[in-house]
Amino acid sequence: MADIGVVIIGSGLAGYTLAREFRKLDKQTPLTILSRDHAGFYSKPMLSNALASNKTPSTLVMKNAEKMAAELNASVRAEVQVERIDTAAKSITLKGGEVISYRDVVLALGADTVRIAIGGNGADAVLSVNDLDDYARFAQRLEGVKTVAILGAGLIGCEFANDLLHRGIRSTVIDLADRPLARLLPAEASTFLRHKLEAAGVQFCFNVAVHKVEKAATGFDVELTDNSRLQADLVLSAIGLRPRTELADAAGIAVNRGVIVNRHLATSAAHVHALGDCAEVAGHVLPYVMPLMQQARALGATLAGTPTPVVYPAMPVMVKTPACPTVVCPPEPHAVGAWQVTTTADGCDARFIGADASVLGFALLGAATAQKQTLVAQVAGWLV
Ligand SMILES: Cc1cc2nc3c(=O)[nH]c(=O)nc-3n(C[C@H](O)[C@H](O)[C@H](O)COP(=O)(O)OP(=O)(O)OC[C@H]3O[C@@H](n4cnc5c(N)ncnc54)[C@H](O)[C@@H]3O)c2cc1C
Repeated sequence: MADIGVVIIGSGLAGYTLAREFRKLDKQTPLTILSRDHAGFYSKPMLSNALASNKTPSTLVMKNAEKMAAELNASVRAEVQVERIDTAAKSITLKGGEVISYRDVVLALGADTVRIAIGGNGADAVLSVNDLDDYARFAQRLEGVKTVAILGAGLIGCEFANDLLHRGIRSTVIDLADRPLARLLPAEASTFLRHKLEAAGVQFCFNVAVHKVEKAATGFDVELTDNSRLQADLVLSAIGLRPRTELADAAGIAVNRGVIVNRHLATSAAHVHALGDCAEVAGHVLPYVMPLMQQARALGATLAGTPTPVVYPAMPVMVKTPACPTVVCPPEPHAVGAWQVTTTADGCDARFIGADASVLGFALLGAATAQKQTLVAQVAGWLV
């Protein structure tokens, strides 16, 4: 068993951003990154606008594992699955039995896509895209496709629907909610987005779920819970993410929706930390890039010897729907206030105003996105 210092499990944006932040401050401590995938560096958000930007699965990879290892002065091990963490022995067991000891270990495990039970002989062919390998399968299946049924009208579903238009592929987006991005936008803003996407060629079916997916002569016959049917050459599921907590749970580390960590990104076990999509940080699960960047900065400093709490300033999310440029900075879940919305023909400006008249969150669509910097400067962060 070799003592290898800091071990990061996961080579996604969270794992690699942390590695970079740590190396800025500590060039000596041995650093190991373990990943069950290829461990190449890529930007996951680009998966849902790869068609518009003419990217392929291979050109999406910016640096392979070897380049990352050299850049970070780290050991990067691809295709290794961590099966167990022993927090008392401070060791990790890989599939195959190899044991690695750590000074500190960081869980950067990401999240799994939520799969709902769907009937029919085509259910197994429903795809989801949550990493580069998924995207490669999806891209391969797009050959000859003219129509796609997308389950979920959230951020990822809407982005794929818009991106597919760049290939001349029309989508029908299906959601149990009554409007797109229902969890992020006020109703008027959802309506604005819906109309722009419809004008560009996207169709929506709201207040329904998919009941069955049956193979048809070409493609699939999709049966909805209101008994209506539609034909699609491909079915894509984008209905949400569930933080990967199993490894932590099995090690006796406290988990809730995500792996529970405090503002120092420390779990309930000494020398075990978590960040990114798998983590629930001070009560918040925020599966976006800006939060993980803030987390990586703080944890990099902590691991390099300067305990540093994470700070969340206003963190707007850019929704990659070029048919309707959208930026959203949601208010905190229990914030008290009300949306004030101004809609014109070319934009929608929605501000969540608190009791003291301060702006607690916003959503800007179309021409109103020009207000982004002004509002970012006004919104107080979630963790300050
Ligand atoms: C299509 C799409 C578009 C998106 N667009 C945006 C956007 O526009 N803006 C935005 O802010 N966010 C966006 N997001 C979210 C953002 O991409 C994620 O928040 C972020 O990439 C998560 O990074 P992560 O490192 O936490 O997880 P991941 O990238 O999922 O990395 C997890 C890593 O853990 C490894 N792993 C897991 N379990 C094990 C194990 N047992 N052993 C070894 N390795 C393991 C995996 O191999 C992987 O390397 C998007 C997400 C998707 C899917």
